[in-house]
Amino acid sequence: MSDSAVKVAVRVRPFNQREKGLDAVCCIAMAGPTTTINDVDGGTGEETFTFDYSFWSHDGFAISDEGLLIPEDGNSPYVDQKKVFDCLGVEVLNNAWTGYHCCLFAYGQTGAGKSYSMVGFGPNKGIIPTTCQDIFRRIGENHDPAKHFEVTIGMLEIYNEKIQDLLIHANQRTKGGLEVRESKQLGIYVQDLTKRAVNSYEAIEDLVDEGTANRTIGSTLMNATSSRANTVLIIEFTQVTTYDMGKEGRKLSVIKLVDLAGSENAEQTVAIASAINKSMSALRNVISALADKGSGKLKKGQLIPYRDSKLTRLLQNALGGSSKTIMICAVSPASSNYEETLSTLRCADRAK
Ligand code: ADP
Repeated sequence: MSDSAVKVAVRVRPFNQREKGLDAVCCIAMAGPTTTINDVDGGTGEETFTFDYSFWSHDGFAISDEGLLIPEDGNSPYVDQKKVFDCLGVEVLNNAWTGYHCCLFAYGQTGAGKSYSMVGFGPNKGIIPTTCQDIFRRIGENHDPAKHFEVTIGMLEIYNEKIQDLLIHANQRTKGGLEVRESKQLGIYVQDLTKRAVNSYEAIEDLVDEGTANRTIGSTLMNATSSRANTVLIIEFTQVTTYDMGKEGRKLSVIKLVDLAGSENAEQTVAIASAINKSMSALRNVISALADKGSGKLKKGQLIPYRDSKLTRLLQNALGGSSKTIMICAVSPASSNYEETLSTLRCADRAK
């Protein structure tokens, strides 16, 4: 893998109660970094992919040759939130301290575990809160009096091809949404997005709560429709060093943490996709075009279609450029989701 490539992790969630009740059959197996998907119902055989990480989730169970859950044999150990953080979150932090812009995004079908990985539930905190917590833990370990840190938070939503600032109240928003711009220092950024300075993890938590409450889709309707919005948390992390004579050195890292809309929204072709789904189909097209470019298959003069959607424009550097990027692909283990899971794995494979 080249230095600029996207690092890809696939994570399978455990069966849910409904699937257990239906005696669902598992179509996923993992060994080391590989993920194998088996068309148990359709009989077209199996396909194996190699990623940077394949994260197993079945607490206490492994899968037999027949695709049934059997007690853990140690071959596919359960990967919990901490392990995912140790593999991915720590890398985000290391990049931030080095001064790289970085991006972590979760891709997958609705219900496959994107929010669980990114945000988490209850005590099982996901990558976003643990990474934010660790930023301040690491800052606390700094004993160099010439050095201090500045952290700001921004939060936005891409819904219906409009970028909305989630840290201002809905009735103060501009109608057309915000614009994506590019600068040398910030890379790709959103013009006029609110930035709030924070100096503790709790302050970030409060802002994320505030931003979540400001989303277009209120919490009452969330289950039905939250899968259609893309939410992005933007952390600007600056290390400020004071030299003699009061001179200052600043090292900036912009961290984008993205909870994507459900990938099933990308299934429809661009022609019939509503604006709501446009960002997701555009994302797939960009990933495909970059894969073609990597393998020399991109037609002469063909551009990577970053400008086809707000999401791909915002993630332009993250997908094809200077930023360090980690993609976590969430999949269901159930054979009833075979088609969606295969399509997620293929997209993950192209993103490498
Ligand atoms: P998405 O955000 O992709 O729509 P969720 O994160 O809401 O999906 O996950 C759906 C359900 O599966 C949730 O109840 C969640 O707690 C559970 N879940 C997802 N991934 C895991 C995991 N790795 N371990 C345990 N439970 C999980």
